[in-house]
Amino acid sequence: MDATAIQRALIALGYSLVADGIMGPKTRTAIQAFQRGQGLAVDGIVGPLTIAALQAAGNKKPDQAGGTGGVLPPDWLPPARMSRVILHWTAGSHRASSLDRSHYHILIEADGALVRGNPSIALNDAGGTKKGYAAHTLNCNTGSIGVALCCMAGAVESPFKPGSAPMTRAQWEMLPRVVANLCRRYGIPVTPKTVLSHAEVQANLGIKQKGKWDISRLSFDPAVVGPKACGDIMRDRASDLLRSI
Ligand SMILES: [Zn+2]
Repeated sequence: MDATAIQRALIALGYSLVADGIMGPKTRTAIQAFQRGQGLAVDGIVGPLTIAALQAAGNKKPDQAGGTGGVLPPDWLPPARMSRVILHWTAGSHRASSLDRSHYHILIEADGALVRGNPSIALNDAGGTKKGYAAHTLNCNTGSIGVALCCMAGAVESPFKPGSAPMTRAQWEMLPRVVANLCRRYGIPVTPKTVLSHAEVQANLGIKQKGKWDISRLSFDPAVVGPKACGDIMRDRASDLLRSI
């Protein structure tokens, strides 16, 4: 989004300013007010999270498939029968590598930027996986959308060490927006069996995994410990978003 597009989006949301392409004090004030209203960091800087929120706010058309409060482009959301969303971290760097893109449908980089994986969501259809599907969760890929945060290379579970690419707040805060968008698009309810992290799959679905602990820690908030604690926070936020959009 360039300066004029940002200003037009703000004007469409009711902010009083002129779309002159210059990021002056009135535009900054409007951005800050918008950020405050969205629960974002109030810094007046239009980064990926603010852009996503602006686009989502401008996109509030209740019956438009995939577009409701959507942070995801509609062409990332092909028709498919999907049963659940499984959340991961890549155990890689802060950027999506080509290997990362081969395993997941959607990736969230360290600054909150969204990257589309190579497999289409439709290849993991609940009616049966098709060649080239995203293999993100052992014996649980049919009907499962895989979303991964790009982070946690070299992390150690116990005693916890976040490694060289700790999870960032920006990518964690983008996650419920992505989840809410997917749940609305595919009619997936937000429950511990239908929106869950890889670390919760064994306990919540009874499908054995090999010691996967994504997502059981938030690097920026050491007070949150364990798969359920992380999953509950994320589900609460996604549910709130679904109520508000
Ligand atoms: Zn995983």
